[in-house]
Amino acid sequence: MTVTTATKLFIGGEWVDSTKHLEVTDPATSELLAVISSASLQDGLDAVTAAHNAFHTWATTPARQRAEILRKAWEIMTAEAETCARLIVLENGKAWRDAMGETLYAAEFFRWFSEEASRIEGDFRYSPSRDKTIVTDHRPMGVAFLITPWNFPAAMATRKIAPALAAGCTCILKPASETPLTALWIAEVLQRAGVPAGVVNVIPTTETGMVSSAILADPRVATLSFTGSTYVGKLLLRQTADRVLPSSMELGGNAPFIVFEGADIDAAIAGAMIAKMRNGGAACTAANRFYIHESVEADFSHKLRNAFADLKVGSGLDQANDLGAMVSDGERDKILELLNEASAEGLALDPAVEIPKQGAFIAPYVITGVEQGSVLTRNEIFGPVAPIIVFGSEDEGVRMANDTDYGLISYVYARDAGVGLRLARRMESGMVAINRGLASDPAAPFGGMKESGLGREGGFAGIHEFLETQYFAVDL
Ligand code: NAD
Repeated sequence: MTVTTATKLFIGGEWVDSTKHLEVTDPATSELLAVISSASLQDGLDAVTAAHNAFHTWATTPARQRAEILRKAWEIMTAEAETCARLIVLENGKAWRDAMGETLYAAEFFRWFSEEASRIEGDFRYSPSRDKTIVTDHRPMGVAFLITPWNFPAAMATRKIAPALAAGCTCILKPASETPLTALWIAEVLQRAGVPAGVVNVIPTTETGMVSSAILADPRVATLSFTGSTYVGKLLLRQTADRVLPSSMELGGNAPFIVFEGADIDAAIAGAMIAKMRNGGAACTAANRFYIHESVEADFSHKLRNAFADLKVGSGLDQANDLGAMVSDGERDKILELLNEASAEGLALDPAVEIPKQGAFIAPYVITGVEQGSVLTRNEIFGPVAPIIVFGSEDEGVRMANDTDYGLISYVYARDAGVGLRLARRMESGMVAINRGLASDPAAPFGGMKESGLGREGGFAGIHEFLETQYFAVDL
């Protein structure tokens, strides 16, 4: 199957071919979807020039006008959600429901930040000694370099582009090379919405390290916003240190899903199915370790197995399927490798359902009897595998849940919201979902503690990642 979408680089408002190319394939069938331009180092620097040249005019464009362009992008993306969802299914492999959910979530960042654009606040106050007035202003940082992963090809792009543009920054987006088509489609949407030439540039590339390093070293680039693995995040932080470049980092997760004594088990199962299975488990927010109180572990595991057994695995183009393919054979193989290691630990592996013989599919697994410290609790699984660990006291559950270098999100199921909130405050994570399986919302601050990241996206905080605070001391 071929796709009819943009296949060239988007630089300075033009669709530009490159001497190098990259192939995009459908992980459900291994078929070639498109051959697209792959940015060279020079293309990357051309994108910096375009974004730099466009910056002053965009930064001084009235916020209301910037807001209306972003709102138009929301309207187009929502009206054409099926086109976007289809591209996501084809290049990423995920289930149709997940792709539609992602598209609408992604579009909402344009709407949310269109509303935020005209509400960038300043501050006026007197110093305590009254010797001066303190006037605080926020101004756009400049050219923003945005790097996104393959697991949410639309939402991770809009979660960065929308606040950057709302703040008055221009940007260069480097999408993951597995899923560049969605990003190029979003560039078309922004162009149609009236984004001026050079304000948004999109440069997929296979020469990621070289192109990114050159962009980060360029003094015209003012900030980096990265979403991806903690490993690559650390690598980029070392590079940004050389220029003391502000950096926002949305990195890996290893989310605990804790069911305390007294929790509603059926509600916990419904939440677990969302927290684990949204995006086939390939989400930074995916529940990775299930800590279940000893009084309910047997009931919970039995019910979760039954729920997994009802899942249909297959191509996302068939809307009846619940679980699609992993993004590539390589990503599927990484999960199979973890399962092999789990088996070597003596854990029993029993796939919940049959899967298609061809394509990067993987069966869902519930794995009981897992010990803290297992390969399954130490690694971000990024697939439909649910390891279950039993705990006794509340303190033990909290201690095991926090026993990780990551701290993106925790899921807490407790008797009621009051107990849930008390326990949530003990979680070492930037986000906690209490008695529910989903927390992400464009209006909420998304981000992690510990090695899960720096900064927040969405909410009121998101736009500030692209704004510089400037203080004026004034004698009035
Ligand atoms: P990845 O780190 O391998 O790649 C992410 C992006 O970085 C891609 O665009 C990739 O091309 C680019 N990249 C790779 N090497 C680079 C280098 N040397 N210099 C510059 N860029 C480079 O991650 P992935 O496999 O695409 O995505 C999965 C990871 O992303 C998981 O760890 C997941 O938890 C994380 N993630 C985090 C969030 C969040 O908001 N915290 C959201 C989604 C995904």
